[in-house]
Amino acid sequence: MRESYDADEARALAWWILEEVSGLSCSQLLSDCKGSTNFSNTQIFDPIIERLLRFEPIQYIFGHTYWYGLDLRLTPATLIPRPETAELVDLLSSTHFQLPAIHVLDIGTGSGCIALAIKQQHPEWQVTGIDISADAIEVARDNARRNNLDVVFEQQDVFSDEPSAINSQHYDIVVSNPPYVRECERATMRSNVLEYEPESALFVPDDDPLLFYRRVAAFYKAKFLFFEINEALGNEMVAMLKEKSYTDIQIHLDSYGKQRIVTARMDR
Ligand code: GLN
Repeated sequence: MRESYDADEARALAWWILEEVSGLSCSQLLSDCKGSTNFSNTQIFDPIIERLLRFEPIQYIFGHTYWYGLDLRLTPATLIPRPETAELVDLLSSTHFQLPAIHVLDIGTGSGCIALAIKQQHPEWQVTGIDISADAIEVARDNARRNNLDVVFEQQDVFSDEPSAINSQHYDIVVSNPPYVRECERATMRSNVLEYEPESALFVPDDDPLLFYRRVAAFYKAKFLFFEINEALGNEMVAMLKEKSYTDIQIHLDSYGKQRIVTARMDR
């Protein structure tokens, strides 16, 4: 493992494996001074370690992860939820909207993580999630059941012009973490992402990196937009939203100080 992961990462992975295999938390394991947790069957670790050595993300190996207080099933059809995306949910959930009833649409929902986290924070809100991938929608629906949250998930292509019950509605909030990594950025990415996560959820063409945002901003009718963005494209995002007559356009930094979220309003 030493050649593949640095010491901190290897330690975190080791705890993760022990917790998953034993069904106990790290503190329960540490306080088990009698050693009644028995890891004598070390064979169960071998296949896990083999897969980690091939840089497969541990979340895919175990088929789920904990994120924002949710237990989310994950498959290679869905991105692994990131800490930055939790910051998007934090910002949206803590914003005070002066609206009578709130309907949220999450575009490119993947595992459903954003939609489900919002619903958990605001059970009274109506939340819908869409994704082009039928496999992702199946996972998102399963995650709604697992976490006992009433979110509607539908398969839908944002670029389809066919009017549907979902794309012809007015929403109070449209939130999206669409693909935003430019092809030219591949070289900077690690193999756990490049070799295992769904390309269609990550990459956009170098010559049109805002294609998803432009489509959402022009086609979906929202009072408020909340976008996770590529840290290098904040200014371009602001210019695009201005051109589409959005107001109150703001860039928010993530905890690494990177331009990660853009919010905007449309007075309709
Ligand atoms: N933040 C993700 C990454 O760097 C990308 C997510 C996305 O494209 N929406 O891997």
